[in-house]
Amino acid sequence: MDGNAGSSAPGSGGRKRALKQQLESLASAGVSDLPKRRGAKAQHATGSSAASRDGAAKAAHAPATAATAADVATRIRSLDVLREEVAACRLCEPLAKARTHTVFGVGPATARLCFLGEAPGADEDASGEPFVGRAGQLLTKIIESCTLSRDEVYILNVLKCRPPDNRRPQPDETANCRSYFEKQLEIIAPEFICCLGTTAAQALLQTDETIGNLRKRWFSWKSSQVICTYHPSYLLRNPPAKRDVWDDMKLLMAKMGVRL
Ligand code: URA
Repeated sequence: MDGNAGSSAPGSGGRKRALKQQLESLASAGVSDLPKRRGAKAQHATGSSAASRDGAAKAAHAPATAATAADVATRIRSLDVLREEVAACRLCEPLAKARTHTVFGVGPATARLCFLGEAPGADEDASGEPFVGRAGQLLTKIIESCTLSRDEVYILNVLKCRPPDNRRPQPDETANCRSYFEKQLEIIAPEFICCLGTTAAQALLQTDETIGNLRKRWFSWKSSQVICTYHPSYLLRNPPAKRDVWDDMKLLMAKMGVRL
């Protein structure tokens, strides 16, 4: 490690975000002495019948089997340990040297749904948070169109460092980051993963099929069900494809039991 590693962990903003996520995760696990999450939407059913029968549907981020407080705390701790490991990583030295922050991921440790993107861009490198630039704003709109809130899903990337000039991750970079994004997903164990774009879909599913072929199909990854759609950056360049993404989101929400 050299002197650069110290600059990689986000500052107090990052810690505040992490604390906010921890509180949200604990609350979502039913820890009763914490204030209830804001924005939990009553209309989100996690399964078809139970929620509608008693009129008390769970929030969309609530796992089918509620995690215990101890389990949530363990997951939060495991993610924190991994976050520190990522912040010190120098496996891709040129990326490590150029980065302002590593971009680990954001969201509840018990999220039902994870969005997996490609790699940080300039805005994400500057802030330490994934999907905060133009593509991120579009992702937020997509999430909200699904009647979910950004706070109740987990968002991460394949690469944790920004590639120069926002170029596609190279195979060795994806290989170096594989243990990080896979471990992250193993800890969260979401019911659903939505891969955003070719890089995420090919990296997670270990395939070289095109995103066009991977859309509209369900895959399994460990205990998660996986769906693939176009990356928001592609939608910024090709707005008519928003219709396809919306079709994919409708498939995903139907499987999650979220009424649109
Ligand atoms: N594109 C990505 O894939 N990830 C980000 O975090 C931002 C843009």
